[in-house]
Amino acid sequence: MRAQVLTAAGCPLVAAERPAARPGPQQLLIAVRACAVCRTDLHVVDGELPDPKLPLVPGHEIIGIVVERGDLADRFAIGDRVGVPWLGWTCGVCEYCRSGRENLCDRARFTGYQIDGGYAELTVADQRYCFAIDPRYGDVDAAPLMCAGLIGYRTLRMAGDARLIGIYGFGAAAHIVAQVVRYQGRRFFGFTRPGDRPAQDFARSLGAEWAGGSDQPPPEPLDAALIFAPIGALVPAALAATKKGGTVVSGGIHMSDIPSFPYRILWEERVLRSVANLTRRDAEEFLALAPVAGIRTETVTYPLTHANDALADLRNGALQGAAVLIP
Ligand SMILES: [Zn+2]
Ligand SMILES: [Zn+2]
Repeated sequence: MRAQVLTAAGCPLVAAERPAARPGPQQLLIAVRACAVCRTDLHVVDGELPDPKLPLVPGHEIIGIVVERGDLADRFAIGDRVGVPWLGWTCGVCEYCRSGRENLCDRARFTGYQIDGGYAELTVADQRYCFAIDPRYGDVDAAPLMCAGLIGYRTLRMAGDARLIGIYGFGAAAHIVAQVVRYQGRRFFGFTRPGDRPAQDFARSLGAEWAGGSDQPPPEPLDAALIFAPIGALVPAALAATKKGGTVVSGGIHMSDIPSFPYRILWEERVLRSVANLTRRDAEEFLALAPVAGIRTETVTYPLTHANDALADLRNGALQGAAVLIP
């Protein structure tokens, strides 16, 4: 099978021809139909996340068809369509797994990081971490739901019942979360790179009541802020824009250093927190909600062989919505 492989951090992916992996007892062999490109893939390729499996097939927003099953793998049938997310395996016995926080499992393994992922024609995944995909979605449309959607949804959940939400960084996760916010009858403002008019128009087209640069104060203070751009300076900016008692949630896995800031912008019971990974409950909730809420994804497709171009376009902020690779 053909794959795009990372051989060393900081190097471009290389095209490789590999034998298909055999599914273990709990695993499925999946023919990849589409795999979205997540900012986390960039952090892995650029060496900003420690100790990836090498060589590695990146990609953790996989939509594919089950073509072979391990001896104990009976959750799905041959021919079923499944989605494979970032959370690839958990231990089930650590204090986090036993308390409904498997996203924090001490021994968790992640797709496209410690497990070969979806930048390939075939991939192998543990059936317990695979999900059925609603037939209302095409393969390409569904792919960004698997991380931008799932982790975006978890990020929004951590903002509680905030009515007016600021969304910082208007990429793949934001464009999905914005639609959930509107579906839930809440309001949002969109914050983009200063001067990025196309992104601000995109935010308004998804229902932003106001869109502007992240250096601008919003027209009214926020109840909560969600940060999806990997820029530490957005943390004090978001805190300063958020009301007393409000929450700022950082949804990314990596961020540049946060500059020091005066305590008064945190004081008055503002909460600053991060979100790490996802639980299977997040996935089940979000994948049930998405078709009912009419969540649409905006995608730009690339052939699998052009994976490096997709990563470059994401790195350069040249994408509106999500890049999706097609083998
Ligand atoms: Zn665990
Ligand atoms: Zn991701």
